Amino acid sequence: MHVAVIGAGIVGLTTAWYLAKLGVDVTLVDSGEPGSGASGGNGGQLSYDFVAPLADPSVIAKIPSLLWQKQSPLRVRWRCDLDFYRWLAGFMRACNRSSVVNTTELLLKLAHESRALAVDFFEQESATADYRVAGKLVLFRDQPSFNSAQRQVALQAKLGSEQRAVTAEECVAIEPALARDAANIVGAIWTPTEAVVDTAKLCEKLMSALSERGGFRFVRAQVGRVCVTGNSADRLITSIGELRADAYVVAAGTQSKRLLRPLGIHLPIEPLKGYSITVPITQDAAAPSVSITDSAKKIVYARLGNRLRIAGMAELVGHDSSIEQARVDQLSKSALDLFGEFGNFKEISPWVGFRPATPSGVPIFGRSSVAGLYLNVGHGGLGLTLSFASSFWLARALVERMSARSGATEKEGGQTWLQSFQCP
Ligand SMILES: Cc1cc2nc3c(=O)[nH]c(=O)nc-3n(C[C@H](O)[C@H](O)[C@H](O)COP(=O)(O)OP(=O)(O)OC[C@H]3O[C@@H](n4cnc5c(N)ncnc54)[C@H](O)[C@@H]3O)c2cc1C
Repeated sequence: MHVAVIGAGIVGLTTAWYLAKLGVDVTLVDSGEPGSGASGGNGGQLSYDFVAPLADPSVIAKIPSLLWQKQSPLRVRWRCDLDFYRWLAGFMRACNRSSVVNTTELLLKLAHESRALAVDFFEQESATADYRVAGKLVLFRDQPSFNSAQRQVALQAKLGSEQRAVTAEECVAIEPALARDAANIVGAIWTPTEAVVDTAKLCEKLMSALSERGGFRFVRAQVGRVCVTGNSADRLITSIGELRADAYVVAAGTQSKRLLRPLGIHLPIEPLKGYSITVPITQDAAAPSVSITDSAKKIVYARLGNRLRIAGMAELVGHDSSIEQARVDQLSKSALDLFGEFGNFKEISPWVGFRPATPSGVPIFGRSSVAGLYLNVGHGGLGLTLSFASSFWLARALVERMSARSGATEKEGGQTWLQSFQCP
């Protein structure tokens, strides 16, 4: 069996990995280098227990002030685009308690499976990629937000998460680098099992592990079109010619929507632009070792080897990939306010990426309405965290289905589990 996977971000690479492990020949196609999309410079946090969706009832009340604040992490560029307003309407519909509970349940299950699969990968492939179980503190700077976070902890405790609320003093005991700003912290949620990894290095490791297996090849090309005959996907038109396979997986991040629209598949995905900077650490004790999320500023900090990755901002501005200096300065200032001088800010490697966001925060993976065409898309702000599990299940379901079509018996497993996820 030969499968073509479109997109070599963390989702496409893990898809290729699990397909290859099932004995499938894989051609991975990307217009750029592997990991060069939203994956490479992301926040580096493996948020296995902090999956609360962005769409939350409390967000609705905060939106007006978030939109008007000068340095708000949220920015919206209003434009004439029906899909964009449909997405916004879907987001607003998802801002209710029952949707948050359902989404949390689904994402936690996926995230916990992802953790087990990623740990297996790191052990079996002797991968490092600056992977570390660092623990995570999510900081709160006002009481109502902290109270609401504690309600989420109570919900997640029933679903198997190990988290607890801690005071500002306890935060400093856990992470001494927070001492400088402790007076502005109301409390935090501490999750000792959370991990960090350098996603760019992880993508490199996946590529090298794949390249060592027979039956794998990487093709550097832009996919212009997925061609369908009858109701079956039958070839890809790429910038370097046609590509045929027995099945196709679209894992093209935010570009998946454009690729699938001509087939009548309308993905509810919007690019949610974010920034990151990576600061070389020069003063070891001043930089955090624990992974940190500053919830009020929507900024995350992850120590990757001897560098601190600082990521944040959520901008609905289409695919505008410009790097605005004011945003970069905002990230630098937030880090300096929180930790003081700890690194060389002259070499900060600014980066932007687009989270493939669905309104509810639930990714879309499984088979599509076109035979032989599968999707693994829409992982939003949790693609690094969730990719191992969504790819594992997608690969299993694809192989079961294709084997059934060629006469072998379809086994229970992947297909059944995937039914909980949306797939057009
Ligand atoms: C600022 C920021 C911080 C983040 N922090 C975290 C975090 O801490 N933890 C976490 O879990 N997640 C985080 N995320 C989210 C995570 O990075 C994304 O969910 C994830 O990278 C999505 O992976 P992907 O493979 O779907 O997309 P991408 O990485 O964008 O990969 C898609 C690939 O498809 C290719 N492609 C697209 N169209 C075509 C085409 N037509 N032909 C050929 N190739 C094509 C692109 O070149 C690209 O390489 C963050 C995201 C951002 C932006």
